[in-house]
Amino acid sequence: MVIVMNPKATEKDISDVTNTLKSLGLGVHVSKGAHVTIIGVIGDKSILADTPLELMSGVDKIVHIMESYKLAGRTFKPESSVIQVKNAPIGGKELAIIAGPCAVESEEQLIKTAQAVKKCGAQFLSGGAYKPRTSPYAFQGLEEDGFKMLAQAREETGLLIVSEVISANSVEIALKYIDVVQIGARNMQNFQLLREVGKAGCPVILKRGLSATIEEWINAAEYIMNEGNYNIIFCERGIRTFETYTRNTLDISAVPVIKQISHLPIIVDPSHGTGKWRLVEPMAMAAIAAGADGLMIEVHHDPKCALSDGPQSITPDNFSHLVQRINKLAPIMDRQYNIVH
Ligand code: PEP
Ligand code: MN
Repeated sequence: MVIVMNPKATEKDISDVTNTLKSLGLGVHVSKGAHVTIIGVIGDKSILADTPLELMSGVDKIVHIMESYKLAGRTFKPESSVIQVKNAPIGGKELAIIAGPCAVESEEQLIKTAQAVKKCGAQFLSGGAYKPRTSPYAFQGLEEDGFKMLAQAREETGLLIVSEVISANSVEIALKYIDVVQIGARNMQNFQLLREVGKAGCPVILKRGLSATIEEWINAAEYIMNEGNYNIIFCERGIRTFETYTRNTLDISAVPVIKQISHLPIIVDPSHGTGKWRLVEPMAMAAIAAGADGLMIEVHHDPKCALSDGPQSITPDNFSHLVQRINKLAPIMDRQYNIVH
């Protein structure tokens, strides 16, 4: 918190304010400019609740510079968090690779893709059972049947399952079948849903909202953490800008920003981030080079026939190429990633 004194404030006004702060045990840093004196206040500001500093003589305004979030911030927890999903850690030295079709379409489609991404070394299979589509006429997902197919794919491949939830009801159903729930971009500020996954306690991938600032995004995590669930992984998936060549503008700078101000891990989704399959691999490389803890990639065995997001889906062959390049980059970033053949 910073107290900006009025240009007409006297020396006595300034010392009255600093003495009041010191008498409450707060640290005080005074910076005297040519016209204005600014007083920086250090310590637990909650004790100022009953001290109306704004009313003291010579005080112009009070500026609160403390973050609007607490639990998700590094001030609260300086060391990086590692989210453990069964035997797979997210946020440690090992990169987390999540891959799968945008939507679960059929048993055959899912298992083909699951086996292919497993062969390349992905630890997680993603697939949407509930699809929050922009158009109400587009394919909306197989719902619980989709979760059943995902659970079946886990049985057959050992991959851990990530899938989106869109309502309190879908959280309850999802947790019977899957390992990590995903909050999609369109629901990042669905506070009721955030509270629901907070109560559920399960690992959560929290995608960045379409037009969300980093602070709004961290506050969405704060809603989940406030319910006692600290198992959150941020996912940068691109934001809306004036650029229309790509579907979204992938904000790679969000990766080091989140790393600096939050202890939670962050992964990147270059599929939704670009909307174009040819851009997925270069942006995946950029994400890992920027310090991301993992990737979320849309893979389809036949993208031109995909029921959802075909243009940004890569084939298993292209996914294999991508992970081989990530594997070369990983040691440079002091990360581990091993292709399992
Ligand atoms: C998805 O993962 O398929 C999806 C809908 O992503 P987003 O919420 O980032 O648009
Ligand atoms: Mn998609």
